[in-house]
Amino acid sequence: MKNYQMYINGEFVESNETISVINPSDKKIISYIPKGTIEDVNAAVNAAEVVQDSWGKLPAIERAEYLHKIAQKIRDNVDMLAYTITQEQGKVLGLAKVEVNFTADYMDYMAEWARRYEGEIIQSDRPNENIFLFKLPIGVAAGILPWNFPFFLIARKLAPAFVTGNTIVIKPSSETPNNAFEFAKLVDEVGLPKGVFNLVSGEGSVVGNSLASNEKVGIISFTGSVPAGVKIMEAAAKNVTKVSLELGGKAPAIVMGDADIDLAVEAIKNSRVINNGQVCNCAERVYVHSSIADEFIEKITNAMKVITCGNPLEEVDMGPLINEAAIHNVQRLVDSAVEAGARITTGGKRVNREDGFYYEPSILVDVKQDMAIIQEEIFGPVLPIMTFDTLDEAIALANDCEFGLTSSIYTQNIDIAMRACKEIKFGETYINRENFEAMQGFHAGWRKSGIGGADGKHGLEEFLQTKVVYLQYNMNKQ
Ligand code: NAD
Repeated sequence: MKNYQMYINGEFVESNETISVINPSDKKIISYIPKGTIEDVNAAVNAAEVVQDSWGKLPAIERAEYLHKIAQKIRDNVDMLAYTITQEQGKVLGLAKVEVNFTADYMDYMAEWARRYEGEIIQSDRPNENIFLFKLPIGVAAGILPWNFPFFLIARKLAPAFVTGNTIVIKPSSETPNNAFEFAKLVDEVGLPKGVFNLVSGEGSVVGNSLASNEKVGIISFTGSVPAGVKIMEAAAKNVTKVSLELGGKAPAIVMGDADIDLAVEAIKNSRVINNGQVCNCAERVYVHSSIADEFIEKITNAMKVITCGNPLEEVDMGPLINEAAIHNVQRLVDSAVEAGARITTGGKRVNREDGFYYEPSILVDVKQDMAIIQEEIFGPVLPIMTFDTLDEAIALANDCEFGLTSSIYTQNIDIAMRACKEIKFGETYINRENFEAMQGFHAGWRKSGIGGADGKHGLEEFLQTKVVYLQYNMNKQ
C-alpha cells in the first residue's frame, strides 16, 4: 500500500486527510493520497507565482533542457509507470506502455519548440516606427486532469507551459493520481527550480475549484467532462482567467457504400474498445450506408465477439471500466435504447464476475437519432449503429450533436471525402483510419467539446500571450 504526498514548492507535503484509490480490476485499495485543501492550493499557486519571473526569463532552450531530462527519466521508468497506470486506471499494460513512451516523446517534441516559436515585426503606417509583436508567458498555469489518459495529459499541459516560460500546478483525477505522484518523484530528481512544478490532489469541487478561482492563475488548462468544464468557466469568469477546455466527445463514423468494409470494421472496432471504450476521441456512433449495412453489422458484431476482457495486466484486449458509476451509466444508455426499440447483436451487459468493473463489448442496431445512446457520451465499449441512404443525410445525422470533437468517414471516393471534411462540423475528421491524434496536429473540440485546443504550434500558442510594442525612432539622428 502506497501513501503519497503532494509536491509544493519543491517539497513533498503531508495532509491531514486522505482519499483511497481503488484498482478497478479487483476493487482493492492500492494507495492513499492527500485530500488537499484550499490552503494547499494557495501555497502551490504562490510558489508557482514567485518563481515564474526568473523561470520565464531563462532562455527557452534552457527550459527545454529540463523537459528533455524529464523525458529521459520517464523512459528510464517505463515499466514502473505503465504498471502504475494499469493498476489504477485499468487500461491494458501494452497501451499503458504506449502512453508512457508517447508522453516522453511529447516532452521532447514540445522542448524542440524552444528555438522555433516566434514573435513578429509588423509594418507601421509611420516612416520612423517599428511595431514588434512579442510572445510572452502568461504566468501560472493550472492543469486539471481526467482519469482516462492521466499520464499523457500531464505532458499535454506541462510541456507547452514550460517551454513558453509558464510555471504550473497540476491537479490529477482522484481516480488515477498515483502516476502523477510517481511523476513528481521523477521531476524532483531532475532539479527543476523550486515552485516551477507543483502537484496538488483532492476533490474537484474543492481543490479543482480553488485552482480555477485563484486570481494568480493565468490560464486553466482543463481536460474532462462538460459539467466540470462549465463549473471551471464559471469560477474563471470571476477573475476573467483564460480557459482552455478539452471536453467530451461523441464521434460519428460514417461508412459509405463504397468503403473498404474490412478496413472500416477493424478501425472502428479498435477505436471502440481501446482503453476499454473510454476515450474522448473514439467512434461512439456509426452511420452505415444501407447498401452494405448487413455485411458491416455482421462483421463488426463478429469482431466484437472475439474481444477478450479481463485483468489488464494479462494478455487481454480490454480491461475494466473505471468505476461502478461508469457501469451504471453504460447500462442506463443500453437499457433505454433497448426499451425504445434497439436490438443488441452482441454484449449489452456487465461481465458476470464480481471482482471488477467489467462490461461486455457491445453492438446495438435499429437505433434512432433521438435516443440517448446516440446523443450522450457512452464512455464504454458500446457501439450504436444506424443506417442512411444519402451523403447529405449522413452528414446531417453526424452534425446533429452537441459535441464536436472528432469524426471519421470511410470511402474510396475523393469527392465524398473532400465534401465530408468541409461539411462535418467537428474539430477533427479522420478519413479511412482510426481516430487518434498526432502530437504535431491540433486537438480541439467544437461546440460543447471545448474551447481552444492542444498539440502542435497552435496548442503551444495557448500558453502564450501577445504584447505589441511601438518603437518610434528619430530619423534625423546622425
Ligand atoms: P471530470 O470532469 O469528472 O473530472 C476531470 C477533472 O476535473 C478531475 O480532476 C476532477 O477532480 C476535476 N473537477 C471536477 N469538478 C470540478 C470543479 N467543479 N472544478 C474544478 N475541477 C473539477 O472528468 P473525468 O470523468 O475525469 O474524465 C472523463 C471525461 O473527460 C469525459 O467526458 C471525456 O470525454 C473527457 N476527456 C476529454 C478529452 C479531450 O481531449 N477532449 C480527453 C480525455 C478525456
